[in-house]
Amino acid sequence: MPTFRAPRGTRDLLPAERSAMLRLEAVAAALASRYGYRPIETPLFEQTAVFERGIGDATDIVEKELFRLAPRTDEGEAWALRPEPTAGIVRAYVQHGMQTLPQPVKLALIGPMFRYDRPQAGRYREFWQFDVEAIGDPGPAVDAEIIELADRFYREVGVADPEVLLNSIGDPVCRPAYVTELAAFYRAHADRLPPLERQRLERNPLRLLDSKEPAMVELNASAPVITEHLCDACAAHFEGLRAHLDALGIRYRLDSRLVRGLDYYIRTAFEVYPRDAAGQQSAIGGGGRYDGLVELLGGRPTPGIGFGLGLDRIVRVLEAQGAPTAPDPAAPVAVVVGADPAATAERLRVATILRGAGLAARSELAPRKLGKQLEAASRDHAHFAVIVGDELGNGQVQLRDLEAGTQKAVALDDLAREVARAHASHHHGTAPSP
Ligand code: AMP
Repeated sequence: MPTFRAPRGTRDLLPAERSAMLRLEAVAAALASRYGYRPIETPLFEQTAVFERGIGDATDIVEKELFRLAPRTDEGEAWALRPEPTAGIVRAYVQHGMQTLPQPVKLALIGPMFRYDRPQAGRYREFWQFDVEAIGDPGPAVDAEIIELADRFYREVGVADPEVLLNSIGDPVCRPAYVTELAAFYRAHADRLPPLERQRLERNPLRLLDSKEPAMVELNASAPVITEHLCDACAAHFEGLRAHLDALGIRYRLDSRLVRGLDYYIRTAFEVYPRDAAGQQSAIGGGGRYDGLVELLGGRPTPGIGFGLGLDRIVRVLEAQGAPTAPDPAAPVAVVVGADPAATAERLRVATILRGAGLAARSELAPRKLGKQLEAASRDHAHFAVIVGDELGNGQVQLRDLEAGTQKAVALDDLAREVARAHASHHHGTAPSP
């Protein structure tokens, strides 16, 4: 056993997994800018109150999963690591007066989140999200835009058949009456509630609706349904959203028990699952509308909507689906080898020329025999070996195409151009998209 290990619930992203994640991040960043969402980053920790107020005291995320940091200042400020990005982004929106910008302000964040949860498969204490927020637009068209963006992301990264679950959870006009009715329903069946759910009933009855406890799943099948209790404005919003999704050809499944874990959501709530997924750890993304949040964090009343997609889980889904693994971003196009094992400076100089010209190159820095160097070059799946020998005195090297099995002399001055040309023509159309 090693003396030190990564903390429980965290893991090192070794090159294969990190490369897979970076590919997702690149797709995410490209899609965000294509859709007009500008990049933002917020601190990994905030005043605890930002999360308590912005997410809600009676949620699992704040009650049980908040990663609290010990205060270090005389002012006794309390901090916590961000469990999700929305509260911090909205805090930044208010702090920087973004309500004076043209609305909506569309922002995207890709980064790690932290939840002090019980670790299990697909549930980590540190995990990565791709998040977008559109602040300042009441929808419903922008709700559809965001859901379509999420759907496109899964398809572009190669998740086969993502399933969007959709619900409307009402607003402060219609939800209270529904929650009262729901609580009455559960009280009437109190004998069937597991102890934890009985406690929750008094503080946040909505949370019982998406409980995965078998006893609850059965009971919930006959619970009152929010979508039958929507006020006219919420019903019209929901209808508008569905019309927009239909116009875009986005498929979704209505799920009246989908409530999301955060207090601040109103109206639109959605989650995405890989098809045929069972179990509660499998959501690969979720989002919703949070029209009260800006005001809760000290701004003017402003509507907003966003989503957070779980990159760790998407990597796992792609693996399980047998999707091709991400190309190794450090795979060399050319490896520089030499007949004289000791001539490391020459090899390094030639590799440096190639690198300076923008090519991925490695040079053999160990004083090994040429045969061993060439073996290593093909293990690296390099397209070319550049063989440095006595001809270097005349400004020439041998360029061996390891894939075609051909070799020719090339002037050092032409080497980078020649390698780039031959590599591009050979790999034309098969190069991985960035
Ligand atoms: P949530 O705000 O809880 O709906 O989180 C949004 C997405 O982040 C989820 O759909 C998951 O894909 C991902 N996610 C949430 N919590 C975790 C976790 N503990 N470990 C890994 N991924 C997570």
